Amino acid sequence: MKKNIFYHSTRGNKEKKLSSEAIVYGIADDGGLFIPTEIPKIKMDYNQLKELDYNELAYRIMSKYLTDFSEAELKYCIEKAYNEKFDTNIIAPLEKKTGVYFLELFHGPTLAFKDMALSILPHLLQIALEKLNLNKEMVILTATSGDTGKAALEGFANVPGTKIIVFFPQEGVSEIQKRQMLTQKGENTHVIGISGNFDDAQRGVKEIFENQIFKDKVKKRNMILSSANSINIGRLVPQIVYYFYAYLKILKENDIKAGEKINIVVPTGNFGNILAAYYAREMGLPVNKLICASNDNRVLTDFFKSGIYDRRRELIMTISPSMDILISSNLERLLLIACHGKADQVNKILNDLSEKGFYKISPDMKKEFNGFYGEYAIQEEAIQCIREVFERSEYLMDPHTAVGHAVYKKYLSETKDRTKTVIVATASPFKFTKSVMGAIDEKYKKFDDFELIEKMADLLQNSIPMGIKDIKKKSILHKAVCNKGKMKEKLAEILF
Ligand SMILES: *Cc1c(COP(=O)(O)O)cnc(C)c1O
Repeated sequence: MKKNIFYHSTRGNKEKKLSSEAIVYGIADDGGLFIPTEIPKIKMDYNQLKELDYNELAYRIMSKYLTDFSEAELKYCIEKAYNEKFDTNIIAPLEKKTGVYFLELFHGPTLAFKDMALSILPHLLQIALEKLNLNKEMVILTATSGDTGKAALEGFANVPGTKIIVFFPQEGVSEIQKRQMLTQKGENTHVIGISGNFDDAQRGVKEIFENQIFKDKVKKRNMILSSANSINIGRLVPQIVYYFYAYLKILKENDIKAGEKINIVVPTGNFGNILAAYYAREMGLPVNKLICASNDNRVLTDFFKSGIYDRRRELIMTISPSMDILISSNLERLLLIACHGKADQVNKILNDLSEKGFYKISPDMKKEFNGFYGEYAIQEEAIQCIREVFERSEYLMDPHTAVGHAVYKKYLSETKDRTKTVIVATASPFKFTKSVMGAIDEKYKKFDDFELIEKMADLLQNSIPMGIKDIKKKSILHKAVCNKGKMKEKLAEILF
């Protein structure tokens, strides 16, 4: 019998929402994040599960959470998402190198793991709107430091009933990331460069979301303003799938026995990807440690070690920009679980964070985090790791994945734990050619990002990934720029 799962807020509002409602509204009325009323279990029928392809497994997992979607609706979304837009029909390949497994989540159209969720979210939204009989247009507004923007553009391009608007800091993204966005096709896509940095872009977007007059105007025109950021459960749920997929693949290759535990290392920023791994474990996936890897911005490492979350520090800009984050929004969901559903405690914690800049959890709560291990690797360690792994096995990691590997090395030498381990590879090295090629040989430092795309392909004796092939020659379709103080006016021009 199918069990219905509902969603409620992390901040105390007990009202139960359908999954379609949680997806459309993104966050709860009280500002909290939606979490499932319970985490569904999956019967680990290994022999049967390991024969499923990615899309079949995706249905198996996602249908446990999105219980008000019919089988046909959910399967439609899955087929629309995971298809020839990916450069391999395996969707999420596993590479065994240097004694670990790299779970490659970068084979989608924009070469970063964000594609795993953002290629399905637009379709889930479209169906959810239909189900709820909301005859409205969805306006997706996003500030990006690189990967999210392009993945959202690609996902929402030409999806009926939606518009997508991306603001990016003109001087704050890599050349390849910028070019990926500016060449985006699709009538419903808008890309705007702003003068300022990522924080300015994010602040501007947040101000628009909080502006009641603007929101009323949007409402009057029968539109819903939403965001594509990683707190939407429509992004979280699809991310659970690939952890099962990886496990079953290793099992199928007879590298582990059914039920044997594995470790999972996740290069972490907003805590979305690793939270999905946590959900997978709670559903019944045999996982020993969830290893949370941070870069120089080691807020989460400090938190796991001390129980104190302290954002009172400078944000350090690194070559793994998607992990340059001081407030990991998705942690809020785990906090509620750790204090056994007592939302008043979560509210107090979040209050402390915004008013004092830090919070401390009780020893009781800290116990709930025992299944995690937090560690960080600074930029120089990641660079060295890229070089070492390439020299040992000719495997080229991007700077985010390299943080994961460098952290895993520290874990190994500290714990001597020989459990088989999966490192999540979150981006293609082709997206960060300058840092990656520079890491393996000084001689590449004189070339620009685009020249290095070809050099990287030669080095790997591999073809250039579809997503960035001929990117230098594609025409620039988006030329809008605006001052960081004028984002609302710019958006109004587009919408009204
Ligand atoms: C977004 C991103 C991350 C961080 O993922 P979170 O879910 O925010 O923790 C890591 N690596 C890459 C390449 C990313 O794009």
